[in-house]
Amino acid sequence: MADSKIERRATRQVRVANVLIGGGAPIVVQSMTDTDSADPEATARQVRELADAGSELVRITVNTAEAASKVAEIRNRLDGSGCDTPLVGDFHFNGHKLLADFPDCGQALAKYRINPGNVGRGAKHDEQFAKMIEFACRYDKPVRIGVNWGSLDQDLLARLMDENARLARPLRSDEVTREALVVSALESAARAEQLGLPADRIVLSCKVSGVQDLVAVYRTLSRRCDYPLHLGLTEAGMGTKGIVASTAAISVLLQEGIGDTIRVSLTPDPEGDRTREVVVAQEILQTMGLRSFAPMVISCPGCGRTTSTYFQALAATIQSYLRKQMPVWRERYPGVEDMHVAVMGCVVNGPGESRHSNIGISLPGSGERPVAPVYIDGEKTVTLKGDNIAEEFQALVENYVVTHYGEDGKLRRPGSGGPRRSR
Ligand code: SF4
Repeated sequence: MADSKIERRATRQVRVANVLIGGGAPIVVQSMTDTDSADPEATARQVRELADAGSELVRITVNTAEAASKVAEIRNRLDGSGCDTPLVGDFHFNGHKLLADFPDCGQALAKYRINPGNVGRGAKHDEQFAKMIEFACRYDKPVRIGVNWGSLDQDLLARLMDENARLARPLRSDEVTREALVVSALESAARAEQLGLPADRIVLSCKVSGVQDLVAVYRTLSRRCDYPLHLGLTEAGMGTKGIVASTAAISVLLQEGIGDTIRVSLTPDPEGDRTREVVVAQEILQTMGLRSFAPMVISCPGCGRTTSTYFQALAATIQSYLRKQMPVWRERYPGVEDMHVAVMGCVVNGPGESRHSNIGISLPGSGERPVAPVYIDGEKTVTLKGDNIAEEFQALVENYVVTHYGEDGKLRRPGSGGPRRSR
């Protein structure tokens, strides 16, 4: 793992089955399925895909009796396939009823997400919230009190707006809304504790869709409590917009030591890959030096010195190859997630960057001899040429992994010396 200088905020620690959140534990990556949970086969398959990509908790929708009736089967299917990733149940409106009607659902889930804005209005709010907490206590489950400004508790907001209006110098309405998010989370957590749920079974989140709002809300929340915090920009959007907005918001907070678990809420492309949100979350943590998940490919952007897209294709191929190996490599080659592989476009920065990496290749730019020197542990080793450079380089990368991170390579692992740098 890269050396991080970030001082994390002190929080309680919450155990979710075999995963620890807060209290100094590594920041946990979460994701959520978009399958119908009433379809146990499709849901278990997607949970498995997300878990294989590196999601350490997976949330599933529990919105109907049909969905609740299948949760235990989803859990059994996962256990049967060797996947022990904890499932989190996402409840809105009828969670109190579903947990009462389907006890095996409540037991199969490792954590309940409760949205205080969606547990009923008026007297029903307190009653239904209390029922959900009662089930969490009965089945010994932690909860995330997950406030979202798209479904903020309207009674609470009205109360705070009224109080604000009576002030000599009232706050702006957006400031009151931010305060309402924080108050909703904190009052709900206090109520859950009064109902008997221990403080070390409570995680909080206050999700909004604007970067500056999210940063402001979490700064306030982190000052006022020591519950672990789940970070995420809600409704982040599609493609680069969603990735950039999520990264901007989450990174600012992580840099301040705020956040114990993260989810990147990307809208997938139609037929797109749901696991992308897991990869983005991991890359945020890895590029910040907070955790390592998969070898990093360092590649240059290319410029007028590159004669073709060959090096771009090679960088993409190597990146995807490395990620695909991780479900197996994670167990077989511990430490491989810290490896750096350089794929560079020409002699200007190619040899230097390659020397700083565990293994790197400097492809020929325009006007250079059509050869590609390979550097291993800072030393130039072989020079590749001809039509099979990509295949030969991939074979060298694989050989490096086996010889440096396998049983026989322990003495040569990074950390025991060598030129690699901490990024
Ligand atoms: S390494 Fe070479 S090809 Fe890549 S950006 Fe730098 S000058 Fe251009």
